[in-house]
Amino acid sequence: VSTTEQEINTYLEALSEEAESPQSLLRKAVELLGSEIALASSFSVEDVALIHMLVEIDPNARVFALDTGRLNDETYQVAEDIRVKYGINVRWYFPEKLKVQGLVRDKGLYSFRESVENRKECCAIRKVEPLGRALSSLKAWITGQRREQSVTRQTLEFVEIDSVNQLLKLNPIAAWTSNDVWDYVKRHEVPYNKLYDKGFTSIGCAPCTRAISAGEDERAGRWWWESPEHKECGLHFTEEDLKQADTGDKT
Ligand code: SF4
Repeated sequence: VSTTEQEINTYLEALSEEAESPQSLLRKAVELLGSEIALASSFSVEDVALIHMLVEIDPNARVFALDTGRLNDETYQVAEDIRVKYGINVRWYFPEKLKVQGLVRDKGLYSFRESVENRKECCAIRKVEPLGRALSSLKAWITGQRREQSVTRQTLEFVEIDSVNQLLKLNPIAAWTSNDVWDYVKRHEVPYNKLYDKGFTSIGCAPCTRAISAGEDERAGRWWWESPEHKECGLHFTEEDLKQADTGDKT
């Protein structure tokens, strides 16, 4: 599917008018884009809330996930609980086998701890490239990002252009607080990742995520050995981020 700039702008305009609630935005998005929009799920508490909303709107809504090969067992478990409860076929994407084999052969199993550059290399192989494949047949994707989550997400829009992947990105719960999300999940009895009960507030790959202490930023447990401005994996980079990375500002 090739999405022209004009098409993206038309959808951006139509959807921006519907952002007063996550449900109204999702409803309009599904109506306009059908199977050409999908939710990217890491089975975070935000993503399971969105799956619940989306399935209520369209039981056949498209959901995809990235299996990096380094996820926690609790993450697979909640993915399975969600699949069974909502009867959805999650489309899993895996990294390219030869690239993973090359990486661990040349640099070992924990190269991401050695430098930001190595960490980004691992994320590029295990997450960013599979994401590109997942997005290649879509005109828009939905994420569970929220402004409150970190310093890198404070200006997040409900609907924005993903200029790196050349499609629209919807962040329906951008304005929700953590309490809003948990209220919703508990009220609707949505299955959630049990690592949250052990002090985790943001869950990624097992070796790159830890529980946080009271008062820490929600994403402080991700790549905790790095400084806050580096804490994105490349899934949500903008063109500006990529330019900075090229010039060394963000590496
Ligand atoms: S989060 Fe860690 S293990 Fe997962 S892809 Fe990124 S660097 Fe690799």
